[in-house]
Amino acid sequence: MQLKQVNNFPKELLTIDVRSIHSLVSEPTLFHLEGKLKQPLFISVLLHGNETTGFLALQKLLEKYSKQELPRSLSFYLGNTEAASRGLRHLDQQADFNRIWPGTELPPTADIKLVKKIVDIMTKKQVFASVDVHNNTGLNPHYACVTRLDNQFLQLANLFSRLVVYFTHPKGVQCGAFAEICPSVTLECGKPDQTHGVDHAFEYLNSCLHLSKLTDQTVLAQDIDVYHTVAQVKVNKGIDFSFDNPDAPLLLDKDLERMNFTEIPAGTQLGRVFDHSTMPVSAINNNGKLVTDKFFTLIDNRLQLNKNTMPSMLTLDERVIKQDCLCYLMEKINL
Ligand SMILES: [Zn+2]
Repeated sequence: MQLKQVNNFPKELLTIDVRSIHSLVSEPTLFHLEGKLKQPLFISVLLHGNETTGFLALQKLLEKYSKQELPRSLSFYLGNTEAASRGLRHLDQQADFNRIWPGTELPPTADIKLVKKIVDIMTKKQVFASVDVHNNTGLNPHYACVTRLDNQFLQLANLFSRLVVYFTHPKGVQCGAFAEICPSVTLECGKPDQTHGVDHAFEYLNSCLHLSKLTDQTVLAQDIDVYHTVAQVKVNKGIDFSFDNPDAPLLLDKDLERMNFTEIPAGTQLGRVFDHSTMPVSAINNNGKLVTDKFFTLIDNRLQLNKNTMPSMLTLDERVIKQDCLCYLMEKINL
């Protein structure tokens, strides 16, 4: 499918329910709106169709500037509208829309070509900064993610939260692709459908439109907490897990999501296993190496951490655990 580019948007976009968005914008479309400063801010939302906060915040932003001039030009992309209309991250036959951007390790497809075109177009337009808005399913604070530790990136992230996550994996994310051409962040705005998440994202995007420049000034260590993702944890294929069935081969602790962004001491139990000879989870480091033993141990029937660590994205959503992962493990970076 061809990428469409337009210099305006249908008025219905301001009020339409996210579930109906695909009927209004049925082709992949890059919207460009002119503002006072010419280098555009780029915003992507709904790369994961069920993560609606970015879309709702963008609606508020477009509403605000339907009555006044934009302080800076704005380009935006509405991601996976088809999955959004069904309330899903992505459809079964689709790739994850946040794994297909330049830098991806997936074999070439039409979707990969299409988003590369977006990056090419925004490169030509000398994009000022890029913001990709997401939600997650577990109990997580709001935070921004960067793929580079440059001052401009940290400033852009710090404007959203003092909590910043530096990550280099997975590949093919929007944030990483735009990092090649401009300061770039991913926002994690907590669970979808929370008004304060929408308000926070809206205020942030509005602030970005008002930024005249990002400087190379150092962000003070007292103003920011930066964590580095060091491993992704998955439940091994073929291991049946549950949060409430005591007969499941892996019974995960129901309090897990309370551990997000909390320093968890070595020895903490994450769950119980039926068969104490089989490690039910895998930890994979940023080089794709298996580092399970570094973080996990089985003692009798208990699955426990053997190292102090800080998890993020722990969720009780079994579908998300199967489609994506159980959590990420992080370490603090001293800037
Ligand atoms: Zn997402």
